[in-house]
Amino acid sequence: MNSIYKIFFGIKKRRVYRVKKRVKRKNLNYLKYKESAVILVKNKLEYFNQFYNYKYNRVTIKNQKTRWGSCSKKGNLNFNYKIVLLSQKQIDYIIVHELCHLKEFNHSQRFWDLVALTILDYKEIRSSLRTNSLQL
Ligand SMILES: [Zn+2]
Repeated sequence: MNSIYKIFFGIKKRRVYRVKKRVKRKNLNYLKYKESAVILVKNKLEYFNQFYNYKYNRVTIKNQKTRWGSCSKKGNLNFNYKIVLLSQKQIDYIIVHELCHLKEFNHSQRFWDLVALTILDYKEIRSSLRTNSLQL
């Protein structure tokens, strides 16, 4: 093995190690916040659904890279564990957003009108969330 190869190989190995460490830290955060996210999300869903009264199935907390939440056609709701780190207003908006997808599976005006029934300033909150890279 010549020395250039050794140096290159050494750098590569160190990089792999660093990436692994970062992934591990992310998973630790997921484990750390998952339980409180489950409780928070379920309580908020129950609260807002007293108003909307929609039917949903499974509620799952995920470790997603790009989304705050999602709603499947089967009525399963998914939320990012990082929701626990947001402000109350932002949390409420995300919960209501996914809840309203149970009725309107799109982002039509009818959908936003439903959201606005409980979150009057949804536009502002929505743009405040846009500064984060995650989406809905
Ligand atoms: Zn949406």
